[in-house]
Parts: sequence; C-alpha cells; structure tokens
Amino acid sequence: MDARDGLLFEGVPLHTIAASVGTPCWITGANTFRQRAKTLKQAFEAHKLNMHLHFAMKSQDHQAVLTVLHHCGYGVDIVSGGEMIRALRAGIQPEGVVFSGVGKSDEELRLAIEKNIRQINVESAEELFRLNNIAATCGKIARVALRVNPDVDAKTHDKISTGRAGDKFGIEHNQAIQLYAQGASLKNIHLVGLAVHLGSQMLTAEPFRKGYSRLADMVREIRSMGHSVESIDCGGGLGICYKNEIAPSPDMLAGVIAETLGDLDVELSLEPGRWLSAPSGILLSRVIETKAGSPSFIILDAAMNDLTRPAMYDSWHGIVPVAPTALSTPTAPWHVVGPVCESSDIFARARFLPENLKRGDLVALLDTGAYGSVMSSTYNSRPLATQVLIDNGKWAVIRQRQTIEELIASETVPEWLHSHHA
Ligand SMILES: *Cc1c(COP(=O)(O)O)cnc(C)c1O
Repeated sequence: MDARDGLLFEGVPLHTIAASVGTPCWITGANTFRQRAKTLKQAFEAHKLNMHLHFAMKSQDHQAVLTVLHHCGYGVDIVSGGEMIRALRAGIQPEGVVFSGVGKSDEELRLAIEKNIRQINVESAEELFRLNNIAATCGKIARVALRVNPDVDAKTHDKISTGRAGDKFGIEHNQAIQLYAQGASLKNIHLVGLAVHLGSQMLTAEPFRKGYSRLADMVREIRSMGHSVESIDCGGGLGICYKNEIAPSPDMLAGVIAETLGDLDVELSLEPGRWLSAPSGILLSRVIETKAGSPSFIILDAAMNDLTRPAMYDSWHGIVPVAPTALSTPTAPWHVVGPVCESSDIFARARFLPENLKRGDLVALLDTGAYGSVMSSTYNSRPLATQVLIDNGKWAVIRQRQTIEELIASETVPEWLHSHHA
C-alpha cells in the first residue's frame, strides 16, 4: 500500500474493493463499530451507571453488524417481527431484545411473547389491553414498559421528531399515569416501567434533560400511588457531526441521565442507533458521466434508491474523491446527482470537488452507515447494492449485489392477460 492507493477505510484501499465487487457498494467498518460501542459503554461506566445498551437495529440491520455488537455486550431495539427474527438468528439472546414501535401486529406480539424477549414497549392503551389478551392465550406474562410521549421538542428535523404532542408516538404523558395504574392490575402483563424516545439526530442536552426530568417526576408519582417502577428505557437519538454541527458527546448524555434518573434506583437502558452506525459506514460510488453547464453535474451510479436520506431529510453527507490526485487539483462547484428519474435524486448542490473529476472516478459518501442500506429500495428496477465488511485489514462481501433476475423472480403475470387483446 502506498500514497497512490488514495482513500482508505479502516486501512483498506477503496479502489481495490470497487475493482473487485463493483459499485455502488456499501462498506461497513467493524472496528469503527467496536470503538464507538466501547466509547459509549465507558461513558456510562464513568458516571457509575449500569446501562443496558440495545442497538436500534433499524439504523443498520445486517446480521454481521449485529454479531459484532453482540460481542461488545449489546442487545437490540427492534421495531418489527422481521427484525426480531434477524436479531435472534444473529445470536442475540431474547433477554437482549426490546420491541418498540407504534403499530405491532397480533402476530408480532405473539412472536415476542413466545420468544420471551426482554421487554415490549407499549404505545397506547389499546395496545396494552390487546397485548394482555394475546399473552393470556399464550399462557404467558409479558414484560412491558409504557412508552410516554413527554411533549418535548427534540429540536431536530421535523421528520425525525417523535416526542412532541401530536407526534404519532407514545402515550400522552397525562394519560400514562392512569394507564400505568390500570396496567398494574392486568393478569398477563408485568409492568416494569417507562420508556421514552424523543427523536433522532439530537444535538443539544436540553431536550434530553427535559424529557428525562418529566419521566422522573412520573416515576415518583406512580410510586406514590403504590405501584412499582423497576426500569426506564431512555431511547436513542444522540446526534453526530455530518458537516460542521457541534455533536454532543456520550459523556454529556451520561451526565444528563445520571443527573435526572440516577437516584431513582431503577434499571436503565438506552437504544442508540445512528451514533453507532452512521460513521461506521460509507457508500462507494463511481461517476457515470459528468455534464458541463451551469450548474455542472456529476452523475453517480449510486442514487436515491440506495441512499434515501438526502431526498427525504435534506441530509448533508461528505463526498470525497478516492483518487489521491484529487488532493492537488483545483476544485469547482458541482451538483452531485444519481441516475433516478426524480428531481429529488440529488446528493449535493454546488459541492466543491475536483474540477477535472470524470467518468469512471470513484467517490465515497461519508457517514452513510445509519439509515442508509436499510432504507434502500429497488425504484427504477435498480437492484440492491453489494455490502462489504472490513475487519482488521480483511474484507468480505456480506451481501451479494441483487440481480435483476432476483428482483423480478417473485412477480407473476396472470394467465388471462396473455389472451386479452383490447
Ligand atoms: C429510531 C429509534 C431509536 C434510535 O434512534 P437513533 O437516532 O438512531 O439513535 C431508538 N428508539 C426508538 C424507539 C426508535 O424508534
């Protein structure tokens, strides 16, 4: 390896991966995940908090990633039966699985009860009573926390804010106490405590402090009514620096939790997603074409069907040329787009990249490990991209590129259409 290898990720030259498996290609760094998992864990230890950590696997659900985090002592926060099966298959123990989500089907709840997962976070009175009935038919007692909507503004993008009054998530906090009392008398429910999740990509301490303080008040009130509260699930939402944001540290979050919930004598858990997965992944892509004009366009072989976040949340991602010559080339403002037939298929506007970037050149889209590959679709009949894992200098394909044949294999055309000519 030498300087001509250009951009590396965890020590591996990206051009070698592109040459071997093609582009677009998602690349995950196992050691980045491990390092971040450890940093987060140590922040809570430093504040003398015994925090149970459950990775929000909706941000990155590959079984290889779950295996890495399992070995770091992490469980998972799931939002569907599919995620449950995936996590158990990856070796996560049922005791490490927490089930969140605003709409869980009977089948999903039954599966959760039968597998004896750690906890189900219930989001409405209706769901609580339905769960009690399902648990009764299974002859089991479900461990349940009530997810509270504390009416706190997470001060993040509207589409990833979840804890304001009027958001679809959680139980209104002034109804939750009454429901807790009702739930405590249900035969097939063991109410263990409260859960909260305020939103994603949160960049300041204040919403966390407000939300957790409100929860602490509720715990005291519920206890004063004679009910027990054993655990609090603090949710996820810790933000990262994508561009130039001042990202909060895990130490800040641990400090706020220690300050607001530390003296309640409850078991604590956290559901971090993005903070662990975003910087652990990149999307590698090749320039299909450049188009000179005002503005000038770089057209990549990756598109909004692969990485949806820019189109959906106006998110900003670093875009870095892989070739080392880029370092000594003057730059020009480019619009960086994908080939999908939508105007929203645009990754960046007026981004300064080498003025002579050309067809065939490679670029890496940074911090795309969270809500990246998991949100991909096959829009425009574009197959799902290859996934690669790098681990201590080795690398392996962990998901083959989908073929067009696989993509259309489950479609059928009814027989009668063949004989019907208008
Ligand atoms: C999405 C989600 C998380 C993870 O959020 P991040 O911002 O990725 O940390 C945690 N808990 C629940 C209930 C979620 O829906």
